[in-house]
Amino acid sequence: MRIASKINSLKRELSSGVKLVAVSKFHPVQALMEAYDAGQRAFAESRPQEFAAKVPLMPADVEWHFIGHLQTNKLKLVLPYASMLQSVDSVHLLEAVSSWCMAAGKRMDVLLELKLGAEETKHGLSEEEIFDIMRRAADYAGVRIRGLMGMATNTDDAGVIKGEFLRMAELKRRIAEAFPDAEGFDELSIGMSSDYRIALEAGSTMVRIGTSIFGPREY
Ligand SMILES: *Cc1c(COP(=O)(O)O)cnc(C)c1O
Repeated sequence: MRIASKINSLKRELSSGVKLVAVSKFHPVQALMEAYDAGQRAFAESRPQEFAAKVPLMPADVEWHFIGHLQTNKLKLVLPYASMLQSVDSVHLLEAVSSWCMAAGKRMDVLLELKLGAEETKHGLSEEEIFDIMRRAADYAGVRIRGLMGMATNTDDAGVIKGEFLRMAELKRRIAEAFPDAEGFDELSIGMSSDYRIALEAGSTMVRIGTSIFGPREY
């Protein structure tokens, strides 16, 4: 019941327009099933192999999100099963995903991952790259660009996190304004266990929560 009560209390905190995505990476299927039995349907994984291994072990009505770095040689582990790829972190990946989906006769919902914070190693797109992609959106017929995803800097400074999330909300607004024909561009996936309350204040439509549901991960 522990996982179920965590989910229920999180859901009470989220307004109706905000989706709870349960980040189940590193947790066993048994834990996912506890969440499923509590009514949770949206799950996210960040490693292709683990994602592909879990999908067939869970009920068919699970809505799978992929949120990790995806190399183009791993697309077939993820794209056949994902309902949303949240972590498009390069133009190269976007092109590969779009081509793969066109060949497979499907259209994938994706989010563009904004590179936030100072850490140089983090994956993600710059604002300029995101605007370029939006300008050329018609070239990516295999995907539907549904919005933005981002991870705030790993810091205890709530002011820094708030500033980054507000910057993302503002970017989403500017894109919607600049590209009024962008169909379905309405998602802002921000907020994890440590910062989802700040993200909700900034306009999150999707929170990705792992630790607060399943407990700490054992790597
Ligand atoms: C692991 C992960 C999360 C969840 O983090 P928690 O702190 O456990 O809630 C959210 N988003 C991404 C991209 C992740 O990799």
